[in-house]
Amino acid sequence: MKYKSLNSNSELVDFETAVKTGLAKDGGLYFPTNVQPIDESFIKNLDKKTNHEIAYEVIKQFVGLSINEADLKKIIKKTLDFEFPLIDLEKNIKVLELFHGPTLAFKDVGARFLANCLSHFNTKKESVVLVATSGDTGAAVANGFLGIKGTKVIILYPGGGKVSEIQERQLTTNGENIIAMKINGVFDDCQKIVKTAFTDKDLNKKLNLTSANSINIARWLPQSFYYFFAYKELLKTNKDFVFSVPSGNFGNICAGLMALKLGLPIKHLIASTNINDTVPVYFKTKKYLPKPSKQTISNAMDVGNPSNFIRILEIFDNNYDQLTSKMSSFSFNDKETLEAISKVYNDHDYILDTHGAVGYLGLKKYLKKNSKEIGVFLETAHPIKFADHIEKEIGISIDMPERIIALTKKEKKYIDINNYKEFKKYILNLNS
Ligand SMILES: *Cc1c(COP(=O)(O)O)cnc(C)c1O
Repeated sequence: MKYKSLNSNSELVDFETAVKTGLAKDGGLYFPTNVQPIDESFIKNLDKKTNHEIAYEVIKQFVGLSINEADLKKIIKKTLDFEFPLIDLEKNIKVLELFHGPTLAFKDVGARFLANCLSHFNTKKESVVLVATSGDTGAAVANGFLGIKGTKVIILYPGGGKVSEIQERQLTTNGENIIAMKINGVFDDCQKIVKTAFTDKDLNKKLNLTSANSINIARWLPQSFYYFFAYKELLKTNKDFVFSVPSGNFGNICAGLMALKLGLPIKHLIASTNINDTVPVYFKTKKYLPKPSKQTISNAMDVGNPSNFIRILEIFDNNYDQLTSKMSSFSFNDKETLEAISKVYNDHDYILDTHGAVGYLGLKKYLKKNSKEIGVFLETAHPIKFADHIEKEIGISIDMPERIIALTKKEKKYIDINNYKEFKKYILNLNS
């Protein structure tokens, strides 16, 4: 399997190179060439397979010859050591819970897979992993890389209360090889610094930079597993099914589209967003107009210019009609999100988080017109991560998992950064 850059189609690289560099030299995102559908009989017998077997089958062609079979299986085992329960919520509506990993959000799978791959490739020169985060990515990446030899991780997160208290603690209390930078700006400013760093000749001469955002294929592609895991449970129903994915940078839903390309019979995918509605607007108007991100209560989706959208266009050969036949996108505001949390709590005694609630709303909207299908929405974080908003809305307190209690006792450590110049100065002096 080779990867091309989505900026030019010139440079073809293997999995190892794409993972180590994160972004192509021309600044483009890597994209796999020649994706082969998985054997149909494997998919028909998914309910007889373990999660580890499924993950291996899904990812092996993307890894190609870069990692041997035994080592890849070990990496999968280390990555997937928790559950992905599919819960019945309402008639024809199910929740796929993706928050049972160590940092209580779905990003643990991609972050751990990436960390283990980089550790496997273990170059002599230390890898400096850059990661821009609106909250959850940084936590998952820090946890995945903590103590991994030959890596240093720099997390850039927006200051001014744009990440929740628990998220900030997850980002800033790691120590060892993890450094947190609090950026004076919004998430898009963090992302811009990371993107600029990759095209900065001085930095790249001195450091082995890589990205741990979903622009890195080793973080993005393993997210396809979730859709197969859900299908394993749905296989027997013999009904058409659709997924609603709470979306910010559109990495997760783009992995769902990859699952479709691999032959998983998904009828339709719904990208549900908060008021950062660049993609829903594109679906309506055919015009892609990125804009600055706005702060919401589902902060992991406060993205005004989603990195992975270009990959989605590539999957559909830039054909708008094909795209809209397989995918929809809807946006919801904070008030609607909180109302959904209340309603689901009152009706079903189930506590949604602010992101999952947006996914739920998108699914409901779609099913209104497509009532025969089974809908699955992805619950991407544990509600405790956004407890302030949720507790105020439903008037109860959410039980704090043990892991989180331990965090509240640790001291926060971060570096304040105002602009690219300050960032560059800091990281050029990293090892001196
Ligand atoms: C990151 C995140 C999202 C958005 O995922 P993308 O892949 O960026 O679209 C949604 N919900 C939660 C809780 C997240 O952490």
